[in-house]
Amino acid sequence: MANECNIKVVCRVRPLNPTEEKAGSKFVLKFPTDDSVSIGGKVFAFDKILKPNVSQEYVYNVAAKPIVADVLGGYNGTIFAYGQTASGKTHTMEGVMGDSNLSGIIPRIIADIFNYIYGMDENLEFHIKVSYFEIYMDKIRDLLDITKTNLAVHEDKNKTPYVKGCTERFVSSPEEVMDTIEDGKANRHVAVTNMNEHSSRSHSVFLIHVKQENVETEKKLHGKLYLVDLAGSEKVSKTGAEGAVLDEAKNINKSLSALGNVISALADGNKSHVPYRDSKLTRILQESLGGNARTTMVICCSPASYNESETKSTLLFGQRAKTIKNVVTVNEELTADEWKRRYEREKERNAKLKTIIEKLQAELCMWRSGKEVPVDEQFELKAAAAAVSVEAETPGTGPANIANMLGSLSGSLTGSTITENERTQWESEKMKIYQQLDDKDEEINSQAQLIEKLKEQMLEQEELIVQSRREYDNLTAEMARIQGDNESAKDEVKEVLQALEELAMNYDQKSQEVENKNKDIDMLTDELSQKLSSLNSVQADLDALRDSSAHQKKRVMEMMISLLKDLGDIGTVIGGNTAESKPSLGGSEKIEEDFTLARLYISKMKSEVKTLVTRLHSIETNQEDTSKKLGQAEKELSDCKLTIQQHEAKISTLTETIHDIDSKKRKLEESVDYLNEEVAKLRVQEQMHATVLSQQKEESDKLQSEVEMKQTLESQMEMHREQHQKQLSALREEIASKQGVIDNLKETNQKLSLALEKLQADYDKLKSEETEKTSKLAELSLQIDRRQQAAQDLKGLEETVAKELQTLHNLRKLFVQDLQNRVKKSVKEKDDDNDEDSVGSAAQKQKISFLENNLEQLTKVHKQLVRDNADLRCELPKLEKRLRATMERVKSLETALKEAKEGAMRDRKRYQIEVDRIKEAVRQRNLARRGHAAQIAKTIRPGQHPGSPAASSGIRGGGGGMSQNGPIKPESIAIKSDGH
Ligand code: ADP
Ligand code: MG
Repeated sequence: MANECNIKVVCRVRPLNPTEEKAGSKFVLKFPTDDSVSIGGKVFAFDKILKPNVSQEYVYNVAAKPIVADVLGGYNGTIFAYGQTASGKTHTMEGVMGDSNLSGIIPRIIADIFNYIYGMDENLEFHIKVSYFEIYMDKIRDLLDITKTNLAVHEDKNKTPYVKGCTERFVSSPEEVMDTIEDGKANRHVAVTNMNEHSSRSHSVFLIHVKQENVETEKKLHGKLYLVDLAGSEKVSKTGAEGAVLDEAKNINKSLSALGNVISALADGNKSHVPYRDSKLTRILQESLGGNARTTMVICCSPASYNESETKSTLLFGQRAKTIKNVVTVNEELTADEWKRRYEREKERNAKLKTIIEKLQAELCMWRSGKEVPVDEQFELKAAAAAVSVEAETPGTGPANIANMLGSLSGSLTGSTITENERTQWESEKMKIYQQLDDKDEEINSQAQLIEKLKEQMLEQEELIVQSRREYDNLTAEMARIQGDNESAKDEVKEVLQALEELAMNYDQKSQEVENKNKDIDMLTDELSQKLSSLNSVQADLDALRDSSAHQKKRVMEMMISLLKDLGDIGTVIGGNTAESKPSLGGSEKIEEDFTLARLYISKMKSEVKTLVTRLHSIETNQEDTSKKLGQAEKELSDCKLTIQQHEAKISTLTETIHDIDSKKRKLEESVDYLNEEVAKLRVQEQMHATVLSQQKEESDKLQSEVEMKQTLESQMEMHREQHQKQLSALREEIASKQGVIDNLKETNQKLSLALEKLQADYDKLKSEETEKTSKLAELSLQIDRRQQAAQDLKGLEETVAKELQTLHNLRKLFVQDLQNRVKKSVKEKDDDNDEDSVGSAAQKQKISFLENNLEQLTKVHKQLVRDNADLRCELPKLEKRLRATMERVKSLETALKEAKEGAMRDRKRYQIEVDRIKEAVRQRNLARRGHAAQIAKTIRPGQHPGSPAASSGIRGGGGGMSQNGPIKPESIAIKSDGH
């Protein structure tokens, strides 16, 4: 059921985008009819024009919807999007995924396929698997497994090319498909830095492979749907690419130009050689272009004037593609019966063809033998071909093939020099070579893939190794550090413990010692007190004994004296002289007396020294006071001097004024004298006048006038005198006042000088006092020195006295012994009591001395112990401090140790986790490498709703003896649709 059909080409024009609008780009495309578009007056006709305002749904309905039904009917399908970058290819193919209005063809197709399946005959079982890859720089990169970067194209047994080793994911719901697409997109994003650039230079291919089986008839169909978002078709110059980018662009353009060449070849009807093998893209799309596939090409155009030339070339491309004819057949897997039937049919056809060949050969022979074959007898090739082709069904022997075959046959008949044998040989050779080529290609690809994988692995491993090594190093370093720390800590701890032990031991010992000592002290003090009490009693006894001995001595003395007297008397009587013992006795007493006297003196001197010292102190304080006073006095004195100077200055000014006043006074007195003189003169004149008057009486008038004159003169004189008097009195008063002032000043001056004198005297006195006191002090210190010297001397004296006393004591003892001996000798009849007493006293003395010695020793020991105790007490806080410090150190070390241990544990754990992770990763990779073998086919059954439990288990009804491993139809669970 093969039928020919043209590639469907629809043209989609996107609206002007905002930047184009802003730049003032014009909309250069016109739509004369519904299926044509004109640019620059040139009209291009397509199957459909999708104007800028059409919805995505409309685009889908026009461009893709029919293909869904075809694919589910066992046909292959392809939808291309062709156009320059940003012309709307991706918008058309994918759109905005998940947006019901803006989603493109792919999501709609996916949803539709499942919807179709859900509504189909329930005897049908579907297996859908999807692949997603991109072609970049003529390398096929698996988008579902990023390790597959260079996949090869192979041909299956039907000579249909396919991407070998490409990941195929079995899917059972639209969601799974969408997830797969998402995964692929994510992988694509991971691999590149600039997605926009990358997507414009790579072709992305999404393949949906639908297999179906009718469980009743066992009829199997399968269809492949390629959804291709091509790279931007623009010329390189437009992007301004350079260097590597230029290479890349050229390469992409190469694959696109290969596509163009293929399309051109197909459009020209030159099917003998279509350069599919020029690029991977064209190889993959071999079936879609001129092969067994329903193909729709969406050519996307930008309407902007800026893109006019690109749009034109795009439209031209579409125009050319439109002429390509595909021959589509259902991909059917036939059952044995079907194959048998086909075989029979083919046999029949073969026989027919044989007869044709025979006829042709007969005609050929006639032609070759030079005979003419009349036109009506000539074999009708076309009719024969049509007759045969009607029955042809299998794709391999489809009309095109037969036409080809016959065409070639006719070609060979019409003068081709190549023999049939050669031709077949060449053909087979060509095929072989192609096969080899494919194999090599695959080998290369697999090797490349392997290399890449190995490289990747190597890199990873290296990285891992480096990381592990680093970690290992770190860990070893850490470990070493920790161990070192540990060791040092251990050592320290050991030391500390040792020290602690020592300390504890020391402490114990010391405390023991202290206790012992305390006990000893207690004991000793007890003993001491006992001894003291005993000593006291002994002392008292001793005193008593002394008293008694003194008393007895006296008595003995008296007796001795009387005895001596008697003896003397006897001596005198006999005639000898025995007065010898007296002076010695007297000497000893005298020494004792002297000693007591000296002691008295000493004590007196001591008291005197003390008084002197106190006096010295008081004198010193007095001196300080006096010096202070002296300072004050000096200050006062200087003040006084100042005032005196001031006063002296004043006095000098005052004396000056006095002098002035004196001179004034003198002047005034002089003037008074002068005036007096004048008065006298005038009197004389008056007298003369009077004499003259007396002489010249006659001239009375004259006289009268003279008298008058005199009176006036007198009055004048009087006035003058009065004035003078007044002046005089004023001056006198002034003088008196000045005198008073002077007196005052003199008085004050005198006072001040007196005060000064007094102060000077005081000062002198104080000075003399001070010198006196210093001399006294010196004297006193000298005295003190002397006293000290004297005291020292006295001490020495004391010592000597003590020594002497000792000797005296000894002497006394000797004397007593001597005396006793003598007494024994001389007075044999003396009673025993005295003897016994003296002996007893000696023993007591011995005892006392012994006790005293003991006491001394004990006190010494006591003192030593007390000192030891104090030392220990002093040392105790220090030791405690040290103990505390060491305890703290131990604690800190312990915590550090703990931390280090924890850190090590953590590190180990991390390391373990890392190792596990790596293992897991390696395992995953291994799993992935095993490829789709691990994939589990999921069956999709019509009547199942998306979201109902997957029909992968259960019992298949009505098919006894069928494999339980195959897809199973759960009739009991599946909800039957009422669609068919
Ligand atoms: P391409 O894949 O060809 O490089 P895109 O599909 O990415 O171009 O489109 C470029 C921009 O133009 C996108 O932002 C897209 O949303 C917008 N666009 C493309 N076609 C249309 C259209 N028909 N309607 C609205 N916007 C569109
Ligand atoms: Mg795009």
